[in-house]
Amino acid sequence: MPAYDPNNIFAKIIRGELPCHKVYEDDKALAFLDIMPRAPGHTLVLPKAPARNLFDVSADDLAHVSRVAQKIAKAAISAFGADGVTVQQFNESAGGQVVFHLHVHVIPRKDGVPMKPPASEKEKPEALAANAAKLATALKSA
Ligand code: 5GP
Repeated sequence: MPAYDPNNIFAKIIRGELPCHKVYEDDKALAFLDIMPRAPGHTLVLPKAPARNLFDVSADDLAHVSRVAQKIAKAAISAFGADGVTVQQFNESAGGQVVFHLHVHVIPRKDGVPMKPPASEKEKPEALAANAAKLATALKSA
């Protein structure tokens, strides 16, 4: 597998060099909204430690990211009136991965509403800000 590239876009977000619409943060993980959501509230959960994907992440970081993804999935039900949640995680280009810092997609779903295709449309910053605030509030009251 190729080595971890510390200049990938998510590493820059973790270091605060690029902005994001933050939903959750602790000492080991960061969650923010996907800039091209496949459904409203589409969130990415990342370990802060460098990891390209499933093949090099530590078991502890993977477990922690899973815990955070579960919290966010539960909060999405109340924040967005979701009927379900799709969780995805891609590894290497052949597996659909585009950004090479491990991340888990948490996508709120409504009955009968298909997901948009990946990376189809950039969401307006105001809509992302409003959805991040809804999710952060739901997380605090969980
Ligand atoms: P994957 O690597 O799992 O295929 O997907 C990468 C995801 O990152 C895509 O869903 C894409 O929309 C999202 N993405 C790409 N660039 C940015 C960015 O600069 N900021 C945010 N928040 N999301 C991004």
